[in-house]
Amino acid sequence: MALREIVQDGDPILKKVCRPVTNFDEKLGQLLDDMKETLWHANGLGLAGPQVGVMRRVFICLDDREFGEDEEIPADWEPKFIEFVNPEILEQSGEVTLYEGCLSFPGRNGAITRPQKVKARAQDRHGNVFTIEAEDMLARCICHESNHLDGVTILDLATRFYEDEYPEEQEEY
Ligand SMILES: [Zn+2]
Repeated sequence: MALREIVQDGDPILKKVCRPVTNFDEKLGQLLDDMKETLWHANGLGLAGPQVGVMRRVFICLDDREFGEDEEIPADWEPKFIEFVNPEILEQSGEVTLYEGCLSFPGRNGAITRPQKVKARAQDRHGNVFTIEAEDMLARCICHESNHLDGVTILDLATRFYEDEYPEEQEEY
């Protein structure tokens, strides 16, 4: 595995639409492994292909569902990720507005309204189709990363930005 460079604000790559993955080969496996290492190293929740310069419909989300909302993740936790190849959001429900960040726009947090719950279908690295129902942060992550595959980022979606730090009270806006 190797760390890959994360594409930053201003790079036109972040505005492009990605093509579907057609080859479920070793190269795809290598990409996903590198993305996991890169994401974990960057302390992020999700990472999409274009953020490492690969214009294919692929992203990963950290799967920390075994921990409670206010529970701290132990330092020695072996991180788990969910791999999404050629993903599709099938259903969504509810609305939650929260500040969210992006590894491609460090220091910027945008208030974005997302579904509370989504149902998605995708393929794994071997091409097997699976469906997943996700809520809260994982649902938000799936939506955020899906947007990246269509060249849509927090800059396009946020109704307002909070720089550098999160507001203490999420309910205030
Ligand atoms: Zn992002």
